[in-house]
Amino acid sequence: MLKIEKLHKSYPIGDSSLHVLKGIDLFVEKGEMVAIMGSSGSGKSTLLNIIGMLDEADEGNYTLDEVPIKNLSEKKAAIYRNKFLGFIFQSFNLINYKNALENVALPLYYQGLKRTRRQEKAKFYLEKVGLLGWASHLPSELSGGQNQRVAIARALASNPKLLLADEPTGALDSTTSYDIMAFLQQLNDEGKTLLIVTHEQDIANMCKRIVRLKDGLIMEDNFVKQQRAIADV
Ligand code: ADP
Ligand code: MG
Repeated sequence: MLKIEKLHKSYPIGDSSLHVLKGIDLFVEKGEMVAIMGSSGSGKSTLLNIIGMLDEADEGNYTLDEVPIKNLSEKKAAIYRNKFLGFIFQSFNLINYKNALENVALPLYYQGLKRTRRQEKAKFYLEKVGLLGWASHLPSELSGGQNQRVAIARALASNPKLLLADEPTGALDSTTSYDIMAFLQQLNDEGKTLLIVTHEQDIANMCKRIVRLKDGLIMEDNFVKQQRAIADV
């Protein structure tokens, strides 16, 4: 489903540059649940943003669902992003003046769905994350865990093939973190492919595979493990 070869990325700083990714090779198959680990500044978000087509690599090949992702126009990139990918962020990135239902429905608007269909779908996914009863509440009226569930419902609403999560539990206490991870595991059991950036070992252990970044390279990849720890709750 995802194939990355010899990927490089640098950021310019003044007259020089910071070489963050120095030749990443990564293959992910459908149905995997992969943790991307590494210390702060190791390039986890950089890699995830390239995978999510929010940023572009300097060198290397990236193929998503057989489609080479290179030199795409903004419009094409947006179409692929909408079709293939769902994003979950540490800080939820919900729109604070829209209620839960409206937040989940928003990406469906950009997909050109009619209003009634958007509402139906948004309700379906809010129910899936256990928050249908909270549909009319604003993010400020929900807990961190509830807001992350709304964000997950929003990511699921377009039925993406791949879910990308950047430190999805980074702003949550550990009980809520395990709860969110257990929900992501459930999605994986239903066949969703997930890539989860984290710097917490216990969170990574709840994935089937752990890829560790260090000094711009993958220094460890237990590809064969494909087995999960049970949440410690
Ligand atoms: P991580 O997510 O693992 O903490 P990042 O991918 O965010 O790491 O960042 C990797 C390195 O690249 C860090 O040193 C960071 O400061 C630098 N960096 C990230 N984004 C930019 C940018 N847009 N411009 C310049 N430097 C950046
Ligand atoms: Mg990061």
